[in-house]
Amino acid sequence: MIPEIEKASLADIKLFQEEKLSELLTYLQANSKYYQKVFKEQDVDVSTIKTLEDLVKLPLTSKEDLQKYNDDFLCVPKRKVIDYVTTSGTLGDPVTFALTDNDLERLAYNEAISFACAGVAETDVLQLMTTIDRRFMAGLAYFLGVRKLGAGIIRVGAGIPELQWDSILKFKPTYLIAVPSFLLKLIEYANQHSIDLKESGVKGAICIGESLRNQDFTLNTLAEKITSNWDIKLFSTYASTEMNTAFTECEHQQGGHHHPELIIVEILDEDHLPVVDGEVGELTITTLGVEGMPLLRFKTGDMVKAHTSPCKCGRNTMRLGPVVGRKKQMIKYKGTTLYPPAMDNILNDFQEVQSYIVEISNNSIGTDEICIKIAANNPSEELQQAIKDHFRAKLRVAPKVEFHDAQDISALQFPKMSRKPIKVIDNRK
Ligand SMILES: [Zn+2]
Repeated sequence: MIPEIEKASLADIKLFQEEKLSELLTYLQANSKYYQKVFKEQDVDVSTIKTLEDLVKLPLTSKEDLQKYNDDFLCVPKRKVIDYVTTSGTLGDPVTFALTDNDLERLAYNEAISFACAGVAETDVLQLMTTIDRRFMAGLAYFLGVRKLGAGIIRVGAGIPELQWDSILKFKPTYLIAVPSFLLKLIEYANQHSIDLKESGVKGAICIGESLRNQDFTLNTLAEKITSNWDIKLFSTYASTEMNTAFTECEHQQGGHHHPELIIVEILDEDHLPVVDGEVGELTITTLGVEGMPLLRFKTGDMVKAHTSPCKCGRNTMRLGPVVGRKKQMIKYKGTTLYPPAMDNILNDFQEVQSYIVEISNNSIGTDEICIKIAANNPSEELQQAIKDHFRAKLRVAPKVEFHDAQDISALQFPKMSRKPIKVIDNRK
């Protein structure tokens, strides 16, 4: 099930997207209070925008815009809204996204072709290990996608290894949808309760929330830890509420495939100009086919690299590499540019490290400081030194390392109402 447009030539894909862009601009000009205002203020005549290269002439949309003018982004009367979801905002208040019936259909299509991309077929059964409620988009998207694909789904939800295993043994799912570090908890539970992982029947896991790969697409330490214990195939998928769209790996696992019928991708540098091919930049997206709250040139804050060579799976679409880091979490540390995910890989190399949190702050001379707070099985000066040495070897610099109680780290990681564990606390002014 590969949509025809994904097998088309890059030139044809570009033309296709330009047509969709025109439709979107006409729609925004007619229905979006927010974009009407911005187009007017910035003297934008949407009819002059013909090509993807013209995109740079259009205003960008930031998370702050979305937060400040949230209601003005809604393009339909309220009675057409079916589902409300929220995303945690950067200024504190959550941003609301409203989806119409057509948007839910689009979301189902998006997730169905994403699952199909990862090799999931109609005959498969998937076990959902993420939240489906709590105003969360992803869980619902998975459910709708599986339904559209005609596969089966078991909605277990997040956590509770015992119930997960009960379900795996009872319903024999072939794929799991999970946060990778939770798979480690499942392995641990299986080992403690004499469950034979080889007999589980699970072929693969669609993984969200945490990175599985290094920039060269080899498995990172976390993913290796999983697959060395449990012989399953791990697939990365990258998505967000604002995008309403997922980038999922195919069986060749060389980045998440772009679906040109759903989203336009730009990768921009500091000056908001497209980066040179193959360079890291900020992922900036324009949604296609969204009716409720379409976004034009939305800056996601994620730093990524695009891969444009044709893929062995037959799709010619661009693929996104693993997220290098969050733009605002970029750390300038002792002359090196760092992103927190690089630190995760290093800390995951230590068996003794149970949990940790990275704290970033500024010092009195205005440069960044990093303190890693760790809960360890056997905290010792030797371990502290070994961690610092490993940092120096991998990233050329060593941050401050402190040991804390597991409870204290857990309290920092899971503040009230949080749907995902927090791994970085940024105290920079
Ligand atoms: Zn592919």
